[in-house]
Amino acid sequence: MNVVVAIDGPAAAGKGTISKAVAAHFGMAYLDTGSLYRAVAARVLDGADAVAAARGLTAEHLAAPNLRSADVAQMASQVAALPQVRAALVEFQRDFAARPEGAVLDGRDIGTVICPDAQVKLFVTARPEIRARRRYDEQAAQGASDSFDMVLADVRARDERDMNRADAPLKPAGDAVLIDTSDLDIDAAVAAAIRAIAPQVSGAS
Ligand code: C5P
Repeated sequence: MNVVVAIDGPAAAGKGTISKAVAAHFGMAYLDTGSLYRAVAARVLDGADAVAAARGLTAEHLAAPNLRSADVAQMASQVAALPQVRAALVEFQRDFAARPEGAVLDGRDIGTVICPDAQVKLFVTARPEIRARRRYDEQAAQGASDSFDMVLADVRARDERDMNRADAPLKPAGDAVLIDTSDLDIDAAVAAAIRAIAPQVSGAS
């Protein structure tokens, strides 16, 4: 039986780093579902209609170079509030989750909507100031000039939209294991995730 690991949580909580590391550890496929919404957003910023962009998403759109920018992130959380955009992306995510080697998907609604039957659900979070500090350091290292306060305001605005939208709001699934990375370094956070996943993987083989 293929094991599905659903990893949800707010922006910059460490989901991506943890997800990549656990996928490599267990030899599973990994999908960053935020990249789907970011790819739609990048096309909208280029003038496309959001729903048409979501329905026509290709590998090329997913490889666009500007997907990690702050503008794209903000637009992603706006297009992600549109039910027709979300609906257009469901099948791709569920097909990915069915990979025979097992799959790790990270996002906002994986454990609640996309894969409610996932064998393992993690909700990875951290205090907003800590998340903003990580994002700020990451962006500053790439030469971005936004102040820490601007980055914190962006993180809060995105949290607000992601948690309060009507369709698939960000929230932990009832059976999710909570990992707060505020006071954990990367190794400790990855180790906590592996501890939560390992029993399900050995039980499935
Ligand atoms: O995770 P990332 O920051 O790349 O996600 C960008 C935006 O895409 C999020 O702020 C959220 O609004 C949206 N998203 C979503 N559902 C997912 C993944 C991302 O609504 N499963």
